[in-house]
Amino acid sequence: MSLHINKTLIIGLGLIGGSLAKALRLNRQCGLVMGYDRDYEEAAKGLRNGVIDQAAESLVDAVAEADLIVLAVPVKAMERVLIDIAPFIKPDALLTDVGSTKANVVAAAQRVFQRLPSGFVPGHPIAGSEKSGVDAADAALFQQHKVILTPLAESSSGAVTVLTRMWQSTGAEVLLMEVEKHDEVLAATSHLPHILAFSLVDTLAQEQGKNTDIFRYAAGGFRDFTRIAGSDPTMWHDICLANKEALLGQLDLFSSGLTNLRQAIESGDSESMLGIFTRARAAREHFSRILSGTAYSQDMSNQQVTFRAQPGGSVQGKFRVPGDKSISHRSIMLGSLADGVTEVTGFLEGEDSLATLQAFRDMGVVIEGPVDGNVTIYGVGLHGLQAPPGPLYVGNSGTSMRLLSGLLAAQAFDTELTGDASLTKRPMGRVADPLRLMGAEIETAENGRPPLKIKGGKALQGIHYDMPMASAQVKSCLLLAGLYADGQTSVTEPAPTRDHTERMLSGFGYPVQQEGATAAVRSGGKLSATRIDVPADISSATFFMVAAAIAPGSDLTLEHVGINPTRIGVINILRLMGADLQLLNEREVGGEPVADIRIRYTPLKGIHIPEDQVPLAIDEFPALFIAAACAEGTTVVTGAEELRVKESDRIQSMVDGLQTLGIDIQGTPDGAIIQGGTLGGGVVESHDDHRIAMSFCVAALRATDTITINECANVATSFPAFVELAQQAGIKVEKEEG
Ligand code: NAP
Repeated sequence: MSLHINKTLIIGLGLIGGSLAKALRLNRQCGLVMGYDRDYEEAAKGLRNGVIDQAAESLVDAVAEADLIVLAVPVKAMERVLIDIAPFIKPDALLTDVGSTKANVVAAAQRVFQRLPSGFVPGHPIAGSEKSGVDAADAALFQQHKVILTPLAESSSGAVTVLTRMWQSTGAEVLLMEVEKHDEVLAATSHLPHILAFSLVDTLAQEQGKNTDIFRYAAGGFRDFTRIAGSDPTMWHDICLANKEALLGQLDLFSSGLTNLRQAIESGDSESMLGIFTRARAAREHFSRILSGTAYSQDMSNQQVTFRAQPGGSVQGKFRVPGDKSISHRSIMLGSLADGVTEVTGFLEGEDSLATLQAFRDMGVVIEGPVDGNVTIYGVGLHGLQAPPGPLYVGNSGTSMRLLSGLLAAQAFDTELTGDASLTKRPMGRVADPLRLMGAEIETAENGRPPLKIKGGKALQGIHYDMPMASAQVKSCLLLAGLYADGQTSVTEPAPTRDHTERMLSGFGYPVQQEGATAAVRSGGKLSATRIDVPADISSATFFMVAAAIAPGSDLTLEHVGINPTRIGVINILRLMGADLQLLNEREVGGEPVADIRIRYTPLKGIHIPEDQVPLAIDEFPALFIAAACAEGTTVVTGAEELRVKESDRIQSMVDGLQTLGIDIQGTPDGAIIQGGTLGGGVVESHDDHRIAMSFCVAALRATDTITINECANVATSFPAFVELAQQAGIKVEKEEG
């Protein structure tokens, strides 16, 4: 990359100017680096310290030679410098600055030049320190920091490109922004915190005069909060004046927030205080993750994880696997809309359910936690949600977006639902269309895709809807909208789908009529807060059920597993294969049936799996293939073509893996034919499919040699503690990361 710059001049050789000069001098992207400072001694020092190639004595001479000029003086000095240099700038030279405010620099340039030069592109590196002067110059200062360029209408695209590359060459990430937006964003995120720190320390310093002990007891919090009060006073004085309007706006906003908090403290209003603190903590965690480039939970996608499972062993014990995702989502939604405080335990702290939780926080619901799966929701009632401060971002969660759209269509305020790149490709027309029939006003992007812009203040009408395809999400979305629609809303499904929403509505005391394939609600009711112990996910429990069913000597109890009739195919199938499986302590929690499942080893036999069980066990087939490989005789799977379009082609992944381990298995378009046999060892590919990875890990219990499973990183997102639980139960598996 060559930027075709022979000479660069940095005016103002302090912390920022010196650091930029040093970085450019080292990477050699911008030709000879000259430095000018009003104090020549600073420039001379820069030359001695290797910060610049040449110390300029005459500003005018240096300007006349430069192809690129960077103004790195205090914002207040910019206009004076521009007046001095304007007549001497080469016609095709590029000009930029590093000032912390932009509108005033642009205004100054406007006054000096009359017509702004096309080579002028203002900029601002979001990097710095409390130090100043050329001694503090650091070539690495901008690495992995952002630099904002604010191109003007007059700026040429060539100038923007070269300046972008110049900053990129220092290791910075360059963003383009409008001048006004820049000043507003910086007022909120940089200028306001600085003046708060200055003001707090000053206020306490005056107290110190009266009470000499105050600073002596200053704890870490005070030190952290006030670190930036060590910054250069003159610079901050200049910034306050230069960005006065935007800063005053932010200061007023902050003052009113502080007044609210003061009132809450004064009147002992715990709910308001907790609201402020929990929202702030969640927001802070959220932006820390944004800063570190990860999402709500830890992102493992870039990591290579391999499972190595040693052969043999049995599983024993009594434990609980993570909570059900569908129920975790709904517990937050209905808990928020209920009257009173809902306590949730066993909440699945996965990416998707956390996105739902954040959306309700954004709509003013106070939610404490999650801490170890415990969440406390201070319900606001069906009509208590508030307009969120901005678009609701639900990450990759289709459930959040589809269910929320029904609720939001009935609110008094406008909302926008957005998601990550992959969610943005998924169709939302299937919820938007029927909601429109109810009177909702929803705008989508092309082909019904997100973002969804939902207009508030619409009176919805109850409808009857015959779903063209079976979908629990569409059904739930319409029933939630039905809580607000005039009259009755009913939905008929062409095939059975999960009924968690209907059950949980009942659990919260809201009447739901269920007649055959039709579910219906009427508006006018209310939800009453309750306790929800989220059932353990039967899909996660499946791996351990199969483990106990195939490994001689096993005796395992899985506690509090959800046994919703739409999900229990795996129990029925294992029993048909002869498994010794007991449901103990059956009970109902928040409308959902749960039980402890005890399973003891007994030899399995091959069967033709009844097709009516396939939809009730669709996610459980990878593990069931392992059970079949360990059974006596032949197992036939038919009617399961959907397995070919899951996270991987699960039929092919299992056929390949089991063949590697020496099993006689044949894939068919809609299933497989599996001969029970002896499992050997080998290396199998999970194709980034968490259920394939966990299934082969379980297979090792009956293998004669080590099984190595590649691409297991995704297990962490669906079942974070899988390896630890498997080890605890008796499976000899190790995780290797690299
Ligand atoms: P600094 O370390 O004090 O450096 C500024 C330098 O410019 C000093 O050497 C100063 O000389 C010199 N100078 C002042 N007026 C001049 C003039 N008329 N002609 C030539 N040189 C002049 O300050 P800095 O932190 O680098 O800040 C420079 C710019 O960067 C400011 O616009 C600031 O808003 C921006 N900025 C700062 C930070 C940060 O964290 N520090 C971050 C991003 C952007 P004297 O010492 O003699 O005054």
